[in-house]
Amino acid sequence: MDLEEKKNKLRELYDRYEEAVAGLKKAATCVVGCADCCIGVGDIDITTLEGVVIRERVATFDRPLQAEIKAGLAQNKAEREQGKLSRCAFLKGDKTCMIYDIRPFSCRQLYSVKRCNGAPPTIHRQAVHQARQTVDKMQRLDFGGYSGHISYILYLLDKEHFRRLYLHGRPDPRKIVDFGRSHGIVINRFVSG
Ligand code: SF4
Repeated sequence: MDLEEKKNKLRELYDRYEEAVAGLKKAATCVVGCADCCIGVGDIDITTLEGVVIRERVATFDRPLQAEIKAGLAQNKAEREQGKLSRCAFLKGDKTCMIYDIRPFSCRQLYSVKRCNGAPPTIHRQAVHQARQTVDKMQRLDFGGYSGHISYILYLLDKEHFRRLYLHGRPDPRKIVDFGRSHGIVINRFVSG
């Protein structure tokens, strides 16, 4: 399967998840401008395939915005390495997402049936189960790629050598072994069967 087909399959997985939880999400209390999930961005993990989609979108932005995002991601990475949560580099000043239509699955699965007020979101158990199944399918789709925090995966994809190996279907975990271990990067082919 080539990269374009994989990107189409990824969108289908997003859509299937949304269809499966549409009824449950009717109970969500989330409103535009509430961005608690995006400010405590500790758990926003992505696959390399999602990272490629995000990079392609960022490449369409003007240069100053690209530079701003790059600096924001570097800050996310540094804060994450210090064990701190941080504001997502894609969150705009009005607390909306600048990549909303292509946001990663970690963001799509988050909603809450109670106002969070700083606490973790309250999500239906069925939706959590559905989300786990979707993540498993996404990792199989991105077989041989990687999963990890958004700032770490985008950091790796920014490295030309890593990107070239990944895009040509020849990821080489030995090249990132130290970074991968110390940053909790998962190799998608080792995900549970
Ligand atoms: S990518 Fe968008 S939705 Fe996801 S955490 Fe960042 S700002 Fe929020």
